[in-house]
Amino acid sequence: MSDIEEHRKKIEKITLEMIKLLKTRTDIAKQIGDAKASLGMTVTDEEREDALRNQITKLCKEIDLDQSTALKFLNFLFNESVKVQSDNKQTHLSVFLKAKALEEEGKKIIHLEVGEPDFKPPKEVKTALEEVYDKGYGKYGSPKGIMELRTAIGIALEDPDVEGGVDYYNGIEDNIMVCPGARFAVYLAITTLLNPGDEIIVIEPSWPAYKDCALNAGIKVRTIKTTLETKWEPSIEQINNAINQNTKMIILNSPNNPTGKVLPKKLLDDIIQTAKDHDLYVLSDEIYSEYANNDWQSVLIYNYEKSIVTKSFSKSHAMTGYRIGYAIAEPSIIDKMSKLQALSLTNVSEPIQYVALQALYADTSKNTEIIKSRLETLVKIAKDIGLEFIEPEGAMYLFAKTKYKNFDATKFSEKLLEHGVAIAPGEGFGDYKEFFRITAIDETRLKEGMIILDTVLKESYE
Ligand code: PMP
Repeated sequence: MSDIEEHRKKIEKITLEMIKLLKTRTDIAKQIGDAKASLGMTVTDEEREDALRNQITKLCKEIDLDQSTALKFLNFLFNESVKVQSDNKQTHLSVFLKAKALEEEGKKIIHLEVGEPDFKPPKEVKTALEEVYDKGYGKYGSPKGIMELRTAIGIALEDPDVEGGVDYYNGIEDNIMVCPGARFAVYLAITTLLNPGDEIIVIEPSWPAYKDCALNAGIKVRTIKTTLETKWEPSIEQINNAINQNTKMIILNSPNNPTGKVLPKKLLDDIIQTAKDHDLYVLSDEIYSEYANNDWQSVLIYNYEKSIVTKSFSKSHAMTGYRIGYAIAEPSIIDKMSKLQALSLTNVSEPIQYVALQALYADTSKNTEIIKSRLETLVKIAKDIGLEFIEPEGAMYLFAKTKYKNFDATKFSEKLLEHGVAIAPGEGFGDYKEFFRITAIDETRLKEGMIILDTVLKESYE
């Protein structure tokens, strides 16, 4: 046998052994997952992970193996464990699907779990839908989006009357890419700018997709846990402590889903400075910017060349099902993201882009007022029934817990659903089993839902 053949046989044998070991490791990870679930422990234990990471770094020195390869491999293994241990988590989506199934059986459900405005898109959308056929939109097009829409978005961003509006770009359209929703923009940014083994920082509680996108792409998530006690505010020390040589991105979401937290200006200044110091991407999901209080400001004002801002027509224009949003970043970043968009979906539906273009001319300030007033109603009721929370400074949700010890929001949400009210359990947003999220829907149904919530709560815990 030639040398090469002998080596090939060896390498195949080792690889097969590694796969068997992976199977053993995955089985054990599942068992640990079950144990953690029954003990109410979180899936990720970063201290434990760090300890193993240190052992591996040491081992690499001893056996003369490239550390960065070993650490990437380790991150892959960590992610596999997280995946098998996160299988049966209840999120707002899983509750929504259960609620839908009950509705199909004829049950009436009040949806306090869904993350979408329940009012109609502006009338400009109706007119645009009527005229789009005759206008001839409906061909293949640029993966970055039609030029008219990109220009219009850029102009809207520069409007000094628009909060956070900036005079940022020269060739505005080169900095903008239209996507089928902000979700896809987030997916594109994480998937195309990072590599397996890289790390991102996510501040929890958070919308679950950041973590899920990273897991899907083999990227390690470092979570920063914020608490009700610290008003859902991360400290710059927490962020600095989470950064290591593999850290490549930090994700911000202000106003936040689910807490409604708006990051204070000084903290945002510090975060951007830290990102600059460590050459990190900043992915700023600003989808709720229209539903923010006066102190909100966009990351765009920093003019940071590694920032990516994601926005959408979903919330501001009540156009969730139209699937249209956009990303704003430097052209080199937009180019990378648009390559994957071209590969995966050619271009965003042209007729919908035209509709979004017309929607941009609509005055949506009424929507902002509606959401604000609903949030005020929700806050008032929640106070009256004794829920514990920080008043949201934006977005369209309330993230609350109860005064009861050992309260399990997942079990409570299951019970509440039997009584016709759907809420989003906190565990979908991180390690927040005692919290739940309520969406500020129209006042009549909101009140009705909250009365049922209060009754079921008291019946179950008093
Ligand atoms: N970011 C956040 C924080 C969200 O809550 C949502 C939707 N719930 C999205 C992004 C996705 O929005 P889109 O419909 O534009 O994909």
